[in-house]
Amino acid sequence: MVNFFCLKTVVFNRVLLLSVLCMMGCNDSNHTSPPMKSEQKEPQRISTVNKTDSTPKITKPTTVEFQPIIYDSTKQYIYLTFDDGPQNGTEACLNLCKQLRVKATFFMIGRLPYDSNLKKLVPLIKYGYPQTLLANHSYTHANGHYKYFYHHPRMALYDFLAAQKVLTVPFKIIRLPGNSAWVTNRGAKASKLVWPVCELLDSSDYHVAGWDVEWNFNHKNANPIESPQKMLQYVDSAFAKGHVHTPNHLVILTHDRMFRKPNYTDSLSKFIQLLQKNPRYVFETIDHYPGIGN
Ligand SMILES: [Zn+2]
Repeated sequence: MVNFFCLKTVVFNRVLLLSVLCMMGCNDSNHTSPPMKSEQKEPQRISTVNKTDSTPKITKPTTVEFQPIIYDSTKQYIYLTFDDGPQNGTEACLNLCKQLRVKATFFMIGRLPYDSNLKKLVPLIKYGYPQTLLANHSYTHANGHYKYFYHHPRMALYDFLAAQKVLTVPFKIIRLPGNSAWVTNRGAKASKLVWPVCELLDSSDYHVAGWDVEWNFNHKNANPIESPQKMLQYVDSAFAKGHVHTPNHLVILTHDRMFRKPNYTDSLSKFIQLLQKNPRYVFETIDHYPGIGN
């Protein structure tokens, strides 16, 4: 029964992906894409001021260009990431990040919902760069069948390529569904299960970002489990004990849906404000993680 369901889902997705990939002009023998640097050379975002009018008029940006940063050795970098959007909660997270002026990365799923209110959040996040970054979290999220997904690495690769295309993700940065793995210019760290797909992604010039600290949620109601104070302890402790993939850089995993209710949006707000009280902590988007963009 389970196998049949899996097979049905996979067949459906293969048909869907083939359609998307046909539009992309992508096939088995040619799945590579231009390297990140060539994407970063896209024309700069355009801002124009109407000289005959005292009111500045900003044109709608059409591209996103990578903006490098220089690390400050006196700081510790925090990469706040929201997974699985667009979904209920994404807008609250986005608005809060803007309000508190923090940078954050949204790893989004390509299989967009039909809800136009959720769909419209994707370009808002994309063109919110450099404050917000849109990144790739696959097309199907493996339909929840992670082992099958990762046991078919080429199918998984196409799933990511489809999401890249549908969402028009600006940079080649991926987070694997249901698995923390790293592929950066500094090397790779991945479990045996996901290693083959990481190799394929690496050969297609993608970077893969995992996480160091997770804000867990109740899988029945999606409400966050830890308090903001507990989360601050996790972060402080991970930095202090070096329990991070890269020293002085820490990636936090959360999910948009955890914060869809006002009281939990407030929890996120409190957590961010607790972090902001530490003058050493700096928020960055994941394209600035060592070995990914810098
Ligand atoms: Zn996910």
